[in-house]
Amino acid sequence: MGGAMQAYFDHNATTPLDEGVLAEMLPFLREEYGNASSRHDFGTRARRAVNKAREQIAVLVNVQPAQVVFVSGGTEANNLFIRGAAAYMKPGRIVVSAIEHPCVAKPAQDLVRQGWKLRKLVTDAQGRVDLADAQAALAEPANLVSVMLANNETGVIQPVAKIAAMAREQRTWMHTDAVQALGKIPVDFAALGVHAMTLSAHKIYGPKGIGALVVDKRLELKPIIHGGGHESGMRSGTENVPAIVGFGAACELAARRMDSIVRSTLDLRDRTEQGAAALGAQVFGRGAERISNTTYFAFPDIDGETLVIELDKAGFAVASGAACSSTSTEPSATLLAMGVAPDLARGAVRVSFGARNTAVEAEDFLQALGATVSRLRRLTAVAV
Ligand code: PLP
Repeated sequence: MGGAMQAYFDHNATTPLDEGVLAEMLPFLREEYGNASSRHDFGTRARRAVNKAREQIAVLVNVQPAQVVFVSGGTEANNLFIRGAAAYMKPGRIVVSAIEHPCVAKPAQDLVRQGWKLRKLVTDAQGRVDLADAQAALAEPANLVSVMLANNETGVIQPVAKIAAMAREQRTWMHTDAVQALGKIPVDFAALGVHAMTLSAHKIYGPKGIGALVVDKRLELKPIIHGGGHESGMRSGTENVPAIVGFGAACELAARRMDSIVRSTLDLRDRTEQGAAALGAQVFGRGAERISNTTYFAFPDIDGETLVIELDKAGFAVASGAACSSTSTEPSATLLAMGVAPDLARGAVRVSFGARNTAVEAEDFLQALGATVSRLRRLTAVAV
């Protein structure tokens, strides 16, 4: 219960809502409550706000506004691509990387029950999807490919453009989950050469429960939620206007301040990583190109969950493994895919910095980390 005094270093799990974003949302939570489908003035103003947000998102990722389909978040966008595209095909082959978020990995696995073949792409020891393996996987006909742009645990940036080029040669639909890349590296739909891309607002200082699937207009998708035909029939349900407005504002903010966030978080990340390494931590993905805010490491002799709990008590919010699987004690699938031994993987701690973190916080964290690690080591020594 660190409350307001706790230093928050878990921005890959979620980010605080930006004050300016909140200010843009507030009118749509109060007086501008119209349904964007209504014909009257209330509805027209809501529709205008939704259209403006669609444009803000489109500008950030270099697409036409009509390519942006609003959904409830990254999870739904990934499900919509996999399940929606597969629904228009006879069972075929789907290729995904071995380090995808569960909201790609599980729907892909689910297709196997429907007669599909699933091929997982391996990574190298640094957590980069292996291009030779992608080439081998796409030597056989495939229907769908999904490879994330930046991994949520390691932060490693994936060779999506190269894999998309291979997929295009095979006339295979290519999707990327860009949730962790947005706002941290330039994300350009056209330059990546993908046919579909997943975005989420709450990782870029926007509200939770809103995201988008950005689509190539030629990609046929069967909706997974049926109803009144909103979002060009691809996602029914009354638009969440305040959240959509917040998503748009967060995209504009991301475009404006990406460079400064990259600079400040990179500095904090590098100091923290050097400090952790000096204490004996092994840093994952350190040799690969990574998003600037993330460091992921483990002490061979210390359990990650325990370390996270102790750091929480000391006033620092960090994550062990992926946030979404923090209730299970299974070692991270991403680390196992990288060939990390399960025992070491169980020690993994992720520190992900954000816009408001300071050098003082990072210094204090290193002190606390040093003290906690020494204490846990003494306890282990006594137990043995
Ligand atoms: N994809 C990645 C890589 C993520 O890190 C996350 C969130 O943890 C998601 C998808 C899910 O996004 P959302 O929380 O908007 O459903």
